[in-house]
Amino acid sequence: MSDHTAQLKIIKDELLAMESPLADERRRNKVFPVIGEGDHYAKIMFIGEAPGKNEAKTGKPFCGASGRILDELLASVGIDRKGVYVTNIVKDRPTDNRDPLPSEIDAYGPFLDRQIIIIEPKIIATLGRFSMDYIMKKFGLGAQLQSISQMHGKTFEVEVSYGTLTVIPLYHPAAAIYNQHLKDTLKKDFEALKKYK
Ligand code: URA
Repeated sequence: MSDHTAQLKIIKDELLAMESPLADERRRNKVFPVIGEGDHYAKIMFIGEAPGKNEAKTGKPFCGASGRILDELLASVGIDRKGVYVTNIVKDRPTDNRDPLPSEIDAYGPFLDRQIIIIEPKIIATLGRFSMDYIMKKFGLGAQLQSISQMHGKTFEVEVSYGTLTVIPLYHPAAAIYNQHLKDTLKKDFEALKKYK
């Protein structure tokens, strides 16, 4: 097992054993936490919000309707999903797909922080406003936060312990399921990722 894989496995084991309202509900419903998936040495990390029903059933991020959009967007810029890492802030499904609560972001955020430290991505592409807010604040870019309609597709560079990290806020793929205009916008914004692949 590679070094990063072994370190990520520790996070998985901790999440499996975690005590929290969403983790308790996950055990009651006999579904899975969604840790993340992809290349453990990826240059590009995508961060969504929280697992939906399909994700909790399979333990895999973005495997339902939003996942199909994500796959299409990746394909449109020639990025292989296996070569990136895809995860969420919240690792257990919020009841009835509601927005994650601040307390849930607080409870699961530290696991995401550790995943970032292990993987050391060069680019973090946030999917939706929750991960945009979390990541911008985490990397000291909070003062530049605006609404996602103003932020999407822009790039923000920040120096981190392992070099320069580029943060790119993107719309959440779910927003494009019934909105072709938004899908076109997402496709255009994904173009910015091409140069990093
Ligand atoms: N929406 C998300 O934010 N993450 C998933 O994994 C699936 C849907």
